[in-house]
Amino acid sequence: MSALLEVSGVSVSFDGFKAINNLSFQIAEGELRAVIGPNGAGKTTFMDIVTGKTRPDEGRVIWGDKSISLLSMNEAQIAREGIGRKFQKPTVFEDQSVRENFLMALKKDRGFLAVLFYRPSKADLGRIDELAEEVGLATELGRLAGELSHGQKQWLEIGMLLAQEPRLLLVDEPAAGMTPEEREHTSSLLVAAAKTRAVVVVEHDMEFVRRLGCKVTVLHEGAVLAEGSLDHVTSNAQVIDVYLGR
Ligand code: ADP
Repeated sequence: MSALLEVSGVSVSFDGFKAINNLSFQIAEGELRAVIGPNGAGKTTFMDIVTGKTRPDEGRVIWGDKSISLLSMNEAQIAREGIGRKFQKPTVFEDQSVRENFLMALKKDRGFLAVLFYRPSKADLGRIDELAEEVGLATELGRLAGELSHGQKQWLEIGMLLAQEPRLLLVDEPAAGMTPEEREHTSSLLVAAAKTRAVVVVEHDMEFVRRLGCKVTVLHEGAVLAEGSLDHVTSNAQVIDVYLGR
């Protein structure tokens, strides 16, 4: 598999403090990857760099088959390149139905007002049915998003991001605040989503990471401390020292 995203020698300092310190790693096309690490390890800053919110002081961030530098692009351009980001808190349109939320995601470029007066085509309605099925909301399409459970709102937002057909989806702590059943559904959903695009999941919940069954990258002090299967990284003495605190 060729690299879809290549982060190479990236460093970022905030007031002289190196939040990201010579970080290098790659994500392959269609890969599912979990990123773990203690608080302050640099996980959020890493996502900020990839999505163009934070500009590194040094290093390269290379994207896609044409090896484009993401560092020459702003956040909107990077999103258009096919990098989607799911923040921890769900942000859906609470006073719109689940179907309308999906529609807005499909028609994002047209703006909110255009969407309000838009009559969805058959193709759009078909795509919305597929997305709802994919994230487990097929029976909820007519409900107001504000009436959904916390877990369902998260799935709706993931579905809205999938509507924009990202090649890479970054997901920040998807299992936080979920019931065990919701966590189980979320892990299956992300495993399925990664069959057709790359998905990077930042997560603290080890049981959830285990269910993802994918390669794990452990960040510490802004660099990769260990990489491999969950069993491999959690048996690494340095990881145990800094992360598990045992
Ligand atoms: P994580 O997401 O792994 O908890 P972060 O990427 O949020 O880690 O933070 C890495 C380090 O950089 C932390 O020590 C944090 O305090 C620091 N940091 C992050 N953003 C800023 C900022 N805007 N200004 C100053 N320090 C920051």
